[in-house]
Parts: sequence; structure tokens; C-alpha cells
Amino acid sequence: MKKSLIWQIIAAFILAVLTGVIFGEKINIVAPLGDLFLRLIKFIIVPLILSTIIVGVASTDDVQKLGRLGGKTISYYLITSLIAISLGLFAGYIFTPGAGTDIQLSSKDKVEVQESEGVIDTILNIVPTNPIESLATGNVLQIIFLSIFLGVGITLVGKKAEPVKLFFDGLAEIMYKITGIIMSLAPIGIFGLLAPVVGEYGAKVLLPLLKLIIAMLITCIIQVIVVYSIAVKTFGRVSPIKFLKAMFPAAMVAFSTSSSSGTLPVTMKCVEDDLKVSKETSSFVLPLGATINMDGTAIYQGLTVMFIAQYYGEALTFSQLATIALIATFASIGTAGVPGAGMIMLTLVLTAVNLPLEGIALVAGVDRILDMMRTTVNIVGDASASVVVDASEKNHTYNEEQILA
Ligand code: ASP
Repeated sequence: MKKSLIWQIIAAFILAVLTGVIFGEKINIVAPLGDLFLRLIKFIIVPLILSTIIVGVASTDDVQKLGRLGGKTISYYLITSLIAISLGLFAGYIFTPGAGTDIQLSSKDKVEVQESEGVIDTILNIVPTNPIESLATGNVLQIIFLSIFLGVGITLVGKKAEPVKLFFDGLAEIMYKITGIIMSLAPIGIFGLLAPVVGEYGAKVLLPLLKLIIAMLITCIIQVIVVYSIAVKTFGRVSPIKFLKAMFPAAMVAFSTSSSSGTLPVTMKCVEDDLKVSKETSSFVLPLGATINMDGTAIYQGLTVMFIAQYYGEALTFSQLATIALIATFASIGTAGVPGAGMIMLTLVLTAVNLPLEGIALVAGVDRILDMMRTTVNIVGDASASVVVDASEKNHTYNEEQILA
């Protein structure tokens, strides 16, 4: 079943490229198929995160474990993001994609500065004042907060709260089932999403920025094949081939939707079904990752800042590079898991090192292509975290059992 899904996805991919090239922009008529698929996966996100986190937390009777899980997850996310930015900057240095680029910016290419809320406000905002509003607007960080608290409450109340736990347990199972059904439609959805993109981008748009696109592609491949493979092999004891094969359907959905939040249900399913990561771990690590861990976006920010600096002939000093690494870490954390969000956050990084914001207009034409690559890396990074954190949790429990025995 799984094998045939992978082949169907590959066939959909090839068909999308062929029909896109043959029919050009006319292939846009299949776009509703893609939209339909995207809507289907989006509609399960809120009930899925809510129910799985509540059940995960309510089944852990030890609150310390939760703190440990959070600490490990966030450390992993920070380390991999820093590696990603460094790789992006390094690729920018090696490939020099911005030198000799021939693109004319017109005066209408003005870029608005992104107003970002302060760090304190961002943290305060995680606490919802109205949980129903958090659910209705799909604010993932607030939903995570709400679900963890409900889960802890259920554990503390005990017997009387049992029906609530059973309810969410049932809801979570239903959501997994629905995710499975929707995933079987992935080949049609991927075709509907990809073909119009191929049809829209002719070689004319891509050629001047080909060096940037290739540099991005190579760096993303290195992050996935080298960094994550080493991590899952060393810390998760999972073979990299098995890991990459299991993540293939989710990676393709991320590639065609350019949304890590939208891909979340599929990421969860791949990780739980094929990599046997416990639901307790995945229901916490993955929604958090889809919101704050964006390694592909971090690569993109490092690389494009180098690109823009090279285009304007500015040499970046070491301290500017360090500033970029720091700001890009926060910018990638603040990037929402939706299409195009990473490009908006680029304004933060450019402002920090005094580069012209108009530089963004240089890459805007191909942003969709870069977004497809970075979103794929974003979700594979989240999945690698779930494998690593889960293995270390299982190890911890095993050691404790040994001590008690
Ligand atoms: N589209 C990316 C994502 O959903 C975010 C970005 O634009 O970098 O992960």
C-alpha cells in the first residue's frame, strides 16, 4: 500500500512536470485539485494537534518527562538551525550566486519593512486569553499550550477526568484515520499543486537565478543527506535510508504545498507509522517543529543574504556574518509554516546588516521554487528531531527500568 503510494506520487510528479512544460500556463485549470487537497489536509490540523497532544500528555504521569522532552526538542532545533544557517552562508561564499547576476530592478520594486513584535510579546502571545479563539484561528503555539495544560489537568484530576481523556483519545484515533484517507489522495493533490507551478515558471524566469537555485538545492540536499542522516543514525539508531524512504510522501507534500503547517498531518503519519516514533513524542515535537523549526528557511536566509550582498558588491565582515547567524535563527523561528513567510522575514536579517531591502525583489520572482525546497527541509528536520528525541526518551525509560530492577 505504502509502496504503491510512493510510486503514485513519483508518477504524479513526472506527469506534473511534463504537462506543465507542454501546456504552460494553461495547465492552471488543474489548480483546484491542488487546492482541494490542501484544504483537506488543513481541515484536520486543529483537531489533530489538540487531541493528540492532550492524549500524549495525559498518558504521561510524570510531569518531569514533559520538561525533559521540551528541553531536548528545543536544543535539537536550535543546533540544527545554526548548522543550517552556517551551511547557507558557506554555500553563498562558495557559489557566489550574486556576482555578475543580470537583473534590473525597477522603481516599483519597493519592499515594505516588516514590523515584528518584540521577543517578550511573542512569548506572552503563546498564552491564549481565549482558547476558543486560538482554535478558531488555528494559532498552533497557543493550541500547543492549551493542549498541554488540559493534558496536565486531566492527569492531576484523575478518575473524574477519565471521560474527557477517553473522548480525546477517540477523537485522536478518528483524526489519524482521516489523515490516512486524505493521504491516499496525495498523488492527485501533488499533481494539482505542481503542474501550475511548472507551467508558470518558464526558463526565462529561472535562468538569471539558476546559480542561486542550484546552490540552494545542493545545500538543502547536504542538510538532509548529511546532517539529518548522521543525527538519526547516531542518536536515533535508525538507518538513514529507512528514514528518507519513510519521509518521502511527506517531503513531496511539503514540496508541492510549500507549507510545513499544512503538511503536519502527513508528517505525523509517516513518522508514527513507518518510523515507529511514539505518539507521545511525535504529537509534541512535530507541531512545535512545524511552527518554530525551519532549517530550510534558515539555509535560505543565509544564502540569499550573501546573494544580495554580492549583487550590491558589499563585502560582509565576520561580525556581520555572526549577526546574520543570530538574527536568522530568530527569523526562522518566527517564520510561520505557510507559503512565502520566509521571504517576508528576510527583511529582518537585511535590516540587521544594513543591506538594501530592495534586494528581496531580486529573489521574489523565484521565491516559490526556493520555498518548495526550504519547506521540504523544514519538515524533514522536524521528523529527524522526533526520531532523535524519541530514541533518547526510550533510552531514558529503559535505564530507569534497569535501575529499578
Ligand atoms: N513555506 C515555509 C514553510 O511552510 C516557510 C518559509 O516560507 O520559509 O515551512
